Amino acid sequence: MQVIKINPKDNVVTCIIEEGLAENSQIPEFHLSTQSNIPFGHKIALEDIPQNNPIIRYGTTIGFAKEDIAKGGLVDFHNVSTTTSSKLDDLLDIPFAIQDSGYQIPDLSDRTFMGYANSDGTVGTKNILAIHTTVQCVAGVVNRAVDYLRHNVLANYPEVEDVVAINHSYGCGVAINSDSSYVPQAIITNIAKNPNLVEESIAIGLGCEKFTMTRAFEHIPLENQIILQEEEGFEAMMERIISLAEKKLDILNKRQRQACPLDQLRLGVQCGGSDSFSGISANNVIGYAIDAFAKAGAKVGFSEITEVRDGSQKLIERMRDPALRMKFVDIVSWYDHYLESDHVDRSANPTPGNLEGGLINIVDKAMGSINKSGFSEIKDVVAFDEIIHTPGVNFIATSASDFVCGTSQLAAGVTLQVFSTGRGTPYNLREYPVIKLSTNQKLGHHWKDLIDLDCGDLLIGSRSLEELGTDLIDLIIDVASGKTNTKADHYQLFNDLVVFNPAPIT
Ligand code: CA
Repeated sequence: MQVIKINPKDNVVTCIIEEGLAENSQIPEFHLSTQSNIPFGHKIALEDIPQNNPIIRYGTTIGFAKEDIAKGGLVDFHNVSTTTSSKLDDLLDIPFAIQDSGYQIPDLSDRTFMGYANSDGTVGTKNILAIHTTVQCVAGVVNRAVDYLRHNVLANYPEVEDVVAINHSYGCGVAINSDSSYVPQAIITNIAKNPNLVEESIAIGLGCEKFTMTRAFEHIPLENQIILQEEEGFEAMMERIISLAEKKLDILNKRQRQACPLDQLRLGVQCGGSDSFSGISANNVIGYAIDAFAKAGAKVGFSEITEVRDGSQKLIERMRDPALRMKFVDIVSWYDHYLESDHVDRSANPTPGNLEGGLINIVDKAMGSINKSGFSEIKDVVAFDEIIHTPGVNFIATSASDFVCGTSQLAAGVTLQVFSTGRGTPYNLREYPVIKLSTNQKLGHHWKDLIDLDCGDLLIGSRSLEELGTDLIDLIIDVASGKTNTKADHYQLFNDLVVFNPAPIT
């Protein structure tokens, strides 16, 4: 096979040959002869497409021909314009519909995972001592203490996996009561409630910041809070943090993983460094797994507002409750306004790498991105300041930027993330495991020590969606249970958290 046609209505096919197709290559099943070189992941016109006529992929108009495109010609971002974005209000009354997935959703009702039960009733996938912070001013001291604890103390507590400083750039020098300031504040507070970071956690403040300890971490007991300005210099600060941490490590070290039902699992999904294959392979494998976990009552969430915006119709039709549809539209409209207020146009997403990977524009990217959400009913929408609580598929409001989305999903309570990539990114977080899927065999081979599951096998037809989906389900349960380490965790590759802050800095 040289090319893939996604939907019977499509007037383009995608090249799946790693070396690309040379000019005058014959594609007999579509009666095509290529009119130029076609790189890996790029599209070919199945018919003559006159100027201004639609380019159809995923059965959806993703743009219009900027010029006449001949049958067999290259179709890419140079000769395709972008459609205008749909009016969200017009979508509120579309009929409720669940499309046919084409597969039987697997039954995981007899499966469990080995998690850490918390005293607040939640379950984590890692046993971590988290040190939360109210303000960036304390980061230097906290980092020194965490370095010391990791290198000199942690080995005495073998059941504890890590000591993590939750640093951020918020806390002071900010308009603390501005309209959108609730966003960064809720994210920082909710991260401290994440099941992987809540148990026996410590909070450190400076003493004169705007985002006070009471405001940020009311749920953390007083005896677990330290204010640096109350300590007699650096040595005293270190001693105070380390001695409190040792007490906490002693308690955390007594914890054991225990079998937990899948409804205690909180899964997030994300893509980054996407390419033309994201919506044909890896994201579909993720969708299969998401449908299975949702059916088992797990709380699963997909995100990335700018990358689902153009797939809004397909998402809204999966929401039954009018109030839920309105909540989704309100959040996406708010984000539209956030972008427009700084004159951001529709070319801002995708990235240069996305385009080189064969993606044509944001609509093309979105139609592939939403496949991560599977086919099941969307049960809830989680706003920027909320924590996921409804079993089944949820939309979690986040930016599309990988580390911002990762941080926002952490705040929403996610304890494991599945991440697809076509171009390749080593992105990973300390706070929860990130399972990485490649969308194509080229990256799967190129980065075999970084990719946990290569979904390129689905493109070339050597493995089915069901086979890869089953592998992903097993991998999610094994990683959530601490039985398997992700490759990025094995190499200790960690990105910083980045808290989304749409509010003014003073
Ligand atoms: Ca992303």
